[in-house]
Amino acid sequence: MENVTPTIFTETKVRGCNPSFVVTSDGVVIIDTPQLPTKAVEMRKLAESHGPLRYLINTEHHVDHIFGNYYFKGGPTVVHHQGVYDNFMVVGPELDPFAYAKEALPTDDPEGEAIFPDREVYYADPNKAQIVFNGDLTLRVGDHTFELIHTPGHTPGQIAVYVPEERAVFTGDTIFSECQTWLMTSNVDQWLDALDRIGELDVDFIIPGHGPVTTTAYLATQRAVLMEWKTAVAVAVAKGWTREETVERVEFKDRYPVDIGQEYMMDYINSYNAGSLYDKLTA
Ligand SMILES: [Zn+2]
Repeated sequence: MENVTPTIFTETKVRGCNPSFVVTSDGVVIIDTPQLPTKAVEMRKLAESHGPLRYLINTEHHVDHIFGNYYFKGGPTVVHHQGVYDNFMVVGPELDPFAYAKEALPTDDPEGEAIFPDREVYYADPNKAQIVFNGDLTLRVGDHTFELIHTPGHTPGQIAVYVPEERAVFTGDTIFSECQTWLMTSNVDQWLDALDRIGELDVDFIIPGHGPVTTTAYLATQRAVLMEWKTAVAVAVAKGWTREETVERVEFKDRYPVDIGQEYMMDYINSYNAGSLYDKLTA
């Protein structure tokens, strides 16, 4: 894992989200967990070498941010926004998050097969929150402050974790840094508001959900990506294109690569982004 500041550790180079932790004077706070089992166990060991694990916060409910919670059982107190809690590993019409986590093993974590639970065992206790909140929440841990700020858009329960003492914010997938943005079922208008809220923070470091650590300068780029997508699909609707034509013709594959380990999903992401926007704009 790389240090962002002397007390902030993050992992940006492994398949999944950017799981991170912050070392305080009174223990360690985890922010998102590795999707790959072996990486989750390794991160827990590394974090524990810096002190007792106090809290585990998930920035969103997507599987690549929460599946690894399973490997932190019996450790830190888990904290979720209501929207994360309600959607935690819920099987949807398009995506079975448990199957998606399993699908990554042969290519990205063959050793993880041995510690990957059966579906029934997993769902009996996937390590959801003990503390569930609505709106914003502030945690004081040692000399550090963790401001959990509700920033819906990418997902309904999306939060940013602002740590003023480190001049840093963990945004989850409100920021896709230099990689393809997954719109999925997002609310793009709310997402733009979320970027405004993050822009009000006095920070030097943005730890994004995916891609390299960045700065507030990147907020304008993320805004442009969202507006470009929405405008292009709005134009398609105005021209009377069908859903199929829109999915076929509207794509932004040239902008950025897909984040590590998911290169094969380029077509899926672009089709899903165009299709979901089309459905919203024609609803
Ligand atoms: Zn996400």
